[in-house]
Amino acid sequence: MKIGTPKEVFSGESRVAMTPDSARMLQKLGYACAIESGAGAAAGFNDAAYEAAGVEVMADAAALWAASDVVAKVRPPSETEVGYLRDGQLLISFFYPGSNETLLEECKATGASVIAMDMVPRISRAQKMDALSSMANIAGYRAVIEAGNNFGRFFTGQVTAAGKVPPAKVLIVGAGVAGLAAIGTSTSLGAMTYAFDVRPEVAEQIESMGAEFVYLDFEEKAADGAETGGYAAPSSPEFREKQLEKFRELAPEMDIVITTALIPNRDAPVLWTRDMVELMKPGSVIVDLAAERGGNCELTVKDEKIVTDNGVTIVGYTDFPSRMATQSSTLYATNIRHMMTDLTPEKDGAVDHDMDDDVIRGATVTHAGEITFPPPPPKVK
Ligand code: NAD
Repeated sequence: MKIGTPKEVFSGESRVAMTPDSARMLQKLGYACAIESGAGAAAGFNDAAYEAAGVEVMADAAALWAASDVVAKVRPPSETEVGYLRDGQLLISFFYPGSNETLLEECKATGASVIAMDMVPRISRAQKMDALSSMANIAGYRAVIEAGNNFGRFFTGQVTAAGKVPPAKVLIVGAGVAGLAAIGTSTSLGAMTYAFDVRPEVAEQIESMGAEFVYLDFEEKAADGAETGGYAAPSSPEFREKQLEKFRELAPEMDIVITTALIPNRDAPVLWTRDMVELMKPGSVIVDLAAERGGNCELTVKDEKIVTDNGVTIVGYTDFPSRMATQSSTLYATNIRHMMTDLTPEKDGAVDHDMDDDVIRGATVTHAGEITFPPPPPKVK
């Protein structure tokens, strides 16, 4: 069978789902590989590098889709790309089926199977395929770099002949995968780093990374972990009030605020309000990683960088992984390669789409002419 990767058509997308290295591994599984000419260019992989890895370079997207039994890409398919899908073909990409119902119907109608990389169950065995985590890790790192790029001072404190420089104070709100990556990056740059999450169990992790957990003087009734699957649940109004009160207290002191707070299937909670932005010093920076889902900061403008009247820069970019396309393509292509390994138990270059396998079942959103989303809960942790 042949695995093909087209050039991403979404405006500004620089990532690619196959790298020369991942193609070498896919060939070891018995597959032939093809790529659309120029597909890896924005991520630093040119056609010659693919050719050297034994990948067929094809000039035309339509021809690539027609020749491929499996199509691996980054973004959900465009209308034109859905038009290329055919019965029996397998598409692997991010898909976000919960908010793409029409697209799901259209894909089903083609008879193709679709594996959504954003639906890989978060169980230990599937970590190597967890593209949401690999991209969130990059977003968290890049958020700190982006903040530094817009901040006029050092992260670390210094004593120099020209004067004493205090360390920057950085607050990270939300300590999931992206938040923890941001904490690690911020502490390694030498900033005094503070972090908050509604899940108190992350306090130890935060402290082990050299940051300070921001405690609230309030005990929330613990959410039922079985109901939330380890994810955050919406806070009570009382808890939220305490949280905002704490943030108001911290706002004048913080130089950089990075917000990453999300609750599954909901708009991002607004946690950094207008008055908090007004309390911040000129030159402070907010990077809002929740901008895609409405933003944690009340003043965030999606996909833009703004500077407020009191001199606070607010970054609302939603394409952080694409801004580090070489790294993100390498990790994403590895996630895809691991998915293909599980789909090819015999290493014979043929897909065995085993719907009894928890991970494959969980990520499959259309199969055999049916919509298979939402999946049943995984049987193992
Ligand atoms: P996410 O991107 O969905 O959310 C980011 C963080 O925001 C979470 O830590 C959440 O607790 C926090 N948050 C929500 N509301 C908040 C509020 N009001 N104030 C402050 N913080 C708030 O998170 P994620 O990175 O996808 O991780 C979510 C869960 O999934 C975690 O329990 C994580 O350990 C788990 N996870 C498991 C695996 C695995 O087992 N393979 C992989 C990744 C993540």
